[in-house]
Amino acid sequence: MGSAAAYHLARRGQRVIGIEQHTPGHGRGSSYGESRAIRLSYFEHESYVPLVRRAYEGWRELERATGQTILTVTGILEAGHAGSVIVDGSLEASRLHGIFHEVLDAREIMRRFPAFHLPSGWHAVLQPDGGILNPDRAIPLLVQGASQAGATIAVGTRVLDILPGPSAVELRLDGRTIEAGHVIVAAGAWLGTLVPQMQKHLHVTRQVLGWFTPQNPELFTPQACPVFILDGLEDTCYGFPDFAGTGVKVASHKAGETVPHPDALRCETDAADEQQMRSCLAQFLSAANGALRRMSACMYTRTPDEDFIIDRHPADARIVIASPCSGHGFKFASVIGEILADLATTGSTAHDLSRFSLQRFAKAVR
Ligand SMILES: Cc1cc2nc3c(=O)[nH]c(=O)nc-3n(C[C@H](O)[C@H](O)[C@H](O)COP(=O)(O)OP(=O)(O)OC[C@H]3O[C@@H](n4cnc5c(N)ncnc54)[C@H](O)[C@@H]3O)c2cc1C
Repeated sequence: MGSAAAYHLARRGQRVIGIEQHTPGHGRGSSYGESRAIRLSYFEHESYVPLVRRAYEGWRELERATGQTILTVTGILEAGHAGSVIVDGSLEASRLHGIFHEVLDAREIMRRFPAFHLPSGWHAVLQPDGGILNPDRAIPLLVQGASQAGATIAVGTRVLDILPGPSAVELRLDGRTIEAGHVIVAAGAWLGTLVPQMQKHLHVTRQVLGWFTPQNPELFTPQACPVFILDGLEDTCYGFPDFAGTGVKVASHKAGETVPHPDALRCETDAADEQQMRSCLAQFLSAANGALRRMSACMYTRTPDEDFIIDRHPADARIVIASPCSGHGFKFASVIGEILADLATTGSTAHDLSRFSLQRFAKAVR
């Protein structure tokens, strides 16, 4: 989110410094790896659809500007038991926004995509527009684009404190202070440590991803298997076909263990992590339940309602707060970069942010 904001601000001719404690796209935050899902119909709430439409355009614009591929359309299958909020929500959003989709029952899903073994009674929404974004490619392109447009990118630099002064907002760094007219805090899982007033709205959890060698590789090519979300009664898991030769990626969306401080994320993975993913594979994707290639831990920063926070700080409008996570934010980075640039430069945006306002937690925020 920070890279995208720097990209848009610098291209609008603003004086920008982007500050990152590690390196952009590092493996201890939330935005790294070769795949994040993107989908047009949005089960979380239909009001995300205009935003995700603009996000698609933004990714394509970045591809045109750089000549690189960031977004690969594979289709996405959202399947679940009768009454699944994911399937029903996606269907509702598709209908309200006229998004092309198909509704499939379990038998038809397995006929078209033999990778899946789903209980009878399950159904699915198939969205042909869904696909895969590549964060490892997108983030460096945003940072390079920001630098080329004149932004300074300070890596290995930690913001220790944000101090609003009368004429500028001071950022205290290791050994020096800088003054800014406006500050965007897109600190991911660290938001609550940097802006303590946000802490009570955020719950950081450890989420583990796994890559498995499929026993029948032909079932898991991007042509044979779309990106998938499988909403079971006990767990919701999601994953990607083997589009990069790295195996089938699968993960649980269920909240993992609480991370008390993001610096202390438990990066090492264990047998219990593997078992959680194998349980999904054994139930629904047995042909992918082969050798484990690797696992990786990442952090979700969740709000209580799982909607984003994108707003100006209630005590100082020069500070913009951005927490677009709850496990589903990456796809929006291209449009959120624009929004954050709007908020920092004009104080408002044409996009509807009402769902993301801090006011919804009204009494809790001071
Ligand atoms: C396992 C997993 C799967 C996901 N799957 C999807 C998906 O399929 N589709 C989707 O759309 N989204 C998905 N998401 C969510 C998405 O990845 C996140 O919403 C998004 O990456 C959040 O980006 P961010 O910029 O807010 O946070 P981050 O990428 O973590 O960036 C915050 C940055 O701020 C830096 N920072 C923090 N504090 C300081 C400080 N004091 N000084 C300097 N720098 C600081 C950090 O080092 C970090 O680099 C997934 C997330 C995870 C963890």
